[in-house]
Amino acid sequence: MHPIKVVVIIILLYLGYRLVVSDWKKRKKKEEKSSETNLGNETVEDVLVEDPICHKLVPKRQALRLKSRETGEIVYFCGEECCNLFVSQEGEKK
Ligand SMILES: [Zn+2]
Repeated sequence: MHPIKVVVIIILLYLGYRLVVSDWKKRKKKEEKSSETNLGNETVEDVLVEDPICHKLVPKRQALRLKSRETGEIVYFCGEECCNLFVSQEGEKK
């Protein structure tokens, strides 16, 4: 093999390596950024919560929230009707 060909191959390999590494670094940065924004927004309006009464999925932002007396957890409802039903059901259990 001609020595110049070897040099060219080495340079090409080096450039390819550089390209792969920089691309990989960029992708890693992008991933970090996207995970950050996901955490930052917490996408509250996109989160669907299940109404325990009618089992409808309601956007968290629009849902009626109530702290369950039984479990202490926050429960989400599609509307006042379901909320009242839940409260009366919890009352019955006691
Ligand atoms: Zn409901």
